[in-house]
Amino acid sequence: MSKKVLVISEIRDGEFRNVSFEAIAAAKQISNGGEVVGVVIGNHVGDLSKQLIYFGADRVLLVESDKLEKYTPSGFAQAVQTVVEQEDPDGILIGHTAIGRDLAPKLAARMNSGLVSDAIAFEVVGDEVLFTRPIYSGKAFEKVVVKDGIVFATIRPNNIASLEKDETRSGNVQTVDVEIKDLQTVIKEVVKNTTSGVDLSEASVIVAGGRGLKNGDNFKLLEDLATVLGGAVGASRGACDADYCDYALQIGQTGKVVTPDLYIAVGISGAIQHVAGMSNSKVIVAINKDPEAEIFQIADYGIVGDLFDVVPKLTEEFKKV
Ligand code: FAD
Repeated sequence: MSKKVLVISEIRDGEFRNVSFEAIAAAKQISNGGEVVGVVIGNHVGDLSKQLIYFGADRVLLVESDKLEKYTPSGFAQAVQTVVEQEDPDGILIGHTAIGRDLAPKLAARMNSGLVSDAIAFEVVGDEVLFTRPIYSGKAFEKVVVKDGIVFATIRPNNIASLEKDETRSGNVQTVDVEIKDLQTVIKEVVKNTTSGVDLSEASVIVAGGRGLKNGDNFKLLEDLATVLGGAVGASRGACDADYCDYALQIGQTGKVVTPDLYIAVGISGAIQHVAGMSNSKVIVAINKDPEAEIFQIADYGIVGDLFDVVPKLTEEFKKV
């Protein structure tokens, strides 16, 4: 049976997050020849809307208000709820980002629907959608089916390939009128942390450093390598606790969960809590002077050596490519 699937997109710094395009690709398959409707929420974001169509949405709904300029749970929930009441979809997908993790359970509760969170893959089996999601910090996977109501899931960034952008794709952008009221919170100011560059959760290459770096200044070595590879810098909690870098870079059970194409772990021992956040990376390279370090057990490629020798050499070699 063909389905209508809504994709709640997310805009950051004036651009869609890649996971919005990945969710459209997923929605395309789940809709089984039905309709994929992109939902854009914000203020003065109409110009961006067509992007969702170029990445495969059949139609876009634009919900704009000065009260939706910045994300608030109650504002965005009201916007999505209005769209859901208007469209009566069979499925809803949203990125498993900080916003998605906050918004999706609230919406699911309001709609009295189930929710599959942090899906990394899915199969369409007959009329059902079988989502795969990691459990026990990534040590096992479970497959979950939503039996009743709306098929509602959050999609982990970087796991489902988006469709190729095609500017010849066409579709309507329709405005949805919504009155946002009784906001429980108002965002006065967003203070960005000082870390810059590629977003960790969507980076295809991550160079992560641990306590082996010895101090914060030495993170420059990682930044140089990450820049050459077009990647982002991450860290173990050991490095964050030692004040070598900001906690925004922490990867692991109590940090960010990442799935890049390439993860380079530098001076990181491979504690289970760190591995929980990166073990699904497609290719893992470990650089550690201790041949017994646990990180080598999950690494595809291991370099036993002093990071202060190895990392600058790698940077120089990659510069030549
Ligand atoms: P270490 O374990 O000290 O490892 C440093 C490594 O660097 C060693 O393997 C050493 O051989 C190597 N090294 C040293 N010098 C060099 C050199 N010159 N060249 C090459 N290699 C060198 N940790 C996380 O990362 N993320 C989390 O989310 C997280 N959550 C946690 C939650 C809980 C409840 C608890 C209890 C712990 C958590 N931890 C987490 C901490 C985790 O247990 C480890 O303590 C931490 O990951 C260790 O960080 P590290 O690997 O950088 O440091």
